[in-house]
Amino acid sequence: MKLVHTVVELREEVAQAKAKGLTIGLVPTMGALHEGHGSLIKAANMENDFVIVSVFVNPTQFGPNEDLDAYPRTLEADCKMAEEMGANVVFAPSPKEMYPSEDDTWVEVTGDITKVLCGRTRPIHFRGVTTVVSKLFNLAQPDRAYFGQKDAQQVEVLKRMVKDLFFPLQMRIMPIIREKDGLAKSSRNTYLSAEERTAALVLSRSLKAAKAAYDAGERNTAKIINDVTEMIKAEPMSNIDYVEIYAVPGLLPVGETLTGSNLLALAVKFGTTRLIDNVVLEEK
Ligand code: AMP
Repeated sequence: MKLVHTVVELREEVAQAKAKGLTIGLVPTMGALHEGHGSLIKAANMENDFVIVSVFVNPTQFGPNEDLDAYPRTLEADCKMAEEMGANVVFAPSPKEMYPSEDDTWVEVTGDITKVLCGRTRPIHFRGVTTVVSKLFNLAQPDRAYFGQKDAQQVEVLKRMVKDLFFPLQMRIMPIIREKDGLAKSSRNTYLSAEERTAALVLSRSLKAAKAAYDAGERNTAKIINDVTEMIKAEPMSNIDYVEIYAVPGLLPVGETLTGSNLLALAVKFGTTRLIDNVVLEEK
């Protein structure tokens, strides 16, 4: 496996792979790799001849008071894991390499899809995500790109971008990987104190209960949201950002009664750590 840091080096790797007629799978990450990322790399390895993993803590998707500086950076361990999961190249650029100009060029998906859920409390977040992912798509020229359902709104926004900008690639979305006790794996879980981590189990527990209620026939939107909210509020260390349901694909508003496919998504703070999780509610 090769570690490269510059656009020129990555382009050379891509050119060589393309010249050999290899298919390319791209896994964009911010590093601090865990088994969630590992599942994406593994899938990319199964479905492509050549796998590129990017490790880049993208400054433009962090708000001014967010955790850009504190975000864990563990490149050596990341390379080891990426190699074990079958990556051919790790691309770990500097911010200057990804954003060479003084003035910015942005790729932005507008409309409610980027304004609801995380977009409400993180207004510039998705513009940063779509911009950096566009750059990565143009550099890696992947046949397939791998993302996790963990970041369900990101998936919806990126799918819209790929459609609207005619990116010639397939979006591959992988299921949420969880710890044994249910907590969705996240690079930010390392911020949690032992007490906060225990408290955070209420997230997967409440989503599981909502899914069970839905599967047993519950279709009342307000009741499902209310039950999840109450369950989380009963955990004193929690501080809810949102618990909401939107129709997928597209994150469209839902009516009083659920029909079709719906995303039940939540963001909750434990201390200063903001965690997200979700479940899709749809007929079997
Ligand atoms: P991040 O490094 O947090 O930006 O995540 C990089 C990619 O890994 C994104 O597509 C995430 O959705 C995905 N990912 C993160 N955590 C998980 C998880 N627990 N299960 C599946 N995919 C994940």
